[in-house]
Amino acid sequence: MNDLTEKQLNSFARSLEALRDELLMLLDISPESGDTVELDQTKVGRLSRMDAMQQQEMSQACRAGYQKRLKDIQRALLNIKQSGSGLCECGWCEHCGDNIDIRRLEVKPESRFCVKCQESQEH
Ligand SMILES: [Zn+2]
Repeated sequence: MNDLTEKQLNSFARSLEALRDELLMLLDISPESGDTVELDQTKVGRLSRMDAMQQQEMSQACRAGYQKRLKDIQRALLNIKQSGSGLCECGWCEHCGDNIDIRRLEVKPESRFCVKCQESQEH
């Protein structure tokens, strides 16, 4: 069984909620695609159209990253909320079923895989 205490779960839930709020805020203030290029141009004046377009591409890549992370976070939060006591899937690697290192969860509470599985996925 998961050896995370209720106190630890609550603290994870709080970190996750804080992260979620932060991401939601970032996503809201990030420019949407469309007329952003012109908007940026008027704001920065000298910035060339090309630069503005590159900036927009970068911000879209960022948004995709934020959205992906937001999904993971919401999923982890749901796991915690549905778990009641003791049935929580968080803290377990979804791939090999091992315990995810608590230090890893503290840094990245939405982690779904242990370090080993995460690394083998990335390579
Ligand atoms: Zn694993």
